[in-house]
Amino acid sequence: MCDMSNLDSLDILAVGAHPDDVEVHVGGILAKAVKRGLRAAILDLTVGGLGTRGTAELRQAEALEAAKILGVERHFLDLPDARFTEGEDERIALMKAFRSLRPLVVVLPAFEDHHPDHRKAHRLGREAAYYSGLKNYPCPLEPWRPPTVAWVGGINPAAPPDIVIDVSEVWQQRMAAFDAFGSQFASEPDKPKTRIAHPAFRAGIEGRAMHWGSLILKSHAEGLWCEKPIPEGLLRLWSLLNKEGI
Ligand SMILES: [Zn+2]
Repeated sequence: MCDMSNLDSLDILAVGAHPDDVEVHVGGILAKAVKRGLRAAILDLTVGGLGTRGTAELRQAEALEAAKILGVERHFLDLPDARFTEGEDERIALMKAFRSLRPLVVVLPAFEDHHPDHRKAHRLGREAAYYSGLKNYPCPLEPWRPPTVAWVGGINPAAPPDIVIDVSEVWQQRMAAFDAFGSQFASEPDKPKTRIAHPAFRAGIEGRAMHWGSLILKSHAEGLWCEKPIPEGLLRLWSLLNKEGI
């Protein structure tokens, strides 16, 4: 029996600026959380309508398929890709999502990353998580402040993770979810060349996971970063997910 489970709450909510952001960084953590009986979900701020490859409809369909592979729920806020700002409308949209989903752990994009949307989504997510707990903030639904906020490290993190989670047993499943985004990551000669469709991008995901894994003597691991001291909710997640297979 999992002590993190709460019928009214999500155990873990991973937020991405675009569909596929979450699968780049923490697909393994989500898949493993589900395997351990936790309730996990993904929240995409946009459907990625301005991407070089793929339409919004196709990316949304791929995102739903990836969520199915990971065994998680998926929600879309439908903010305007690239043009969303850190204004009140966006903050309220995110606060309403936090208040309705009531996540115990929120995983945000990296605060330092090459894509400005990822940086904006990090700042917006941290602000909304805090303000979502303010009872008198003019926002619908009951207040809910996610007790634990963490974030991914981007593709070239400056510091090692604060916590690494063994995802070896779900690695194939996690990469199948990544590969569900064929419009973004498939290296096909007839499609426009993009950085993320280069085979080295995919290899980098596995390379980083193998490096983090080597630190805890596992084949693959994913990392999370957070404010210090490390919040109790993240330590509980670490303890639960790093247990040997059940
Ligand atoms: Zn992105």
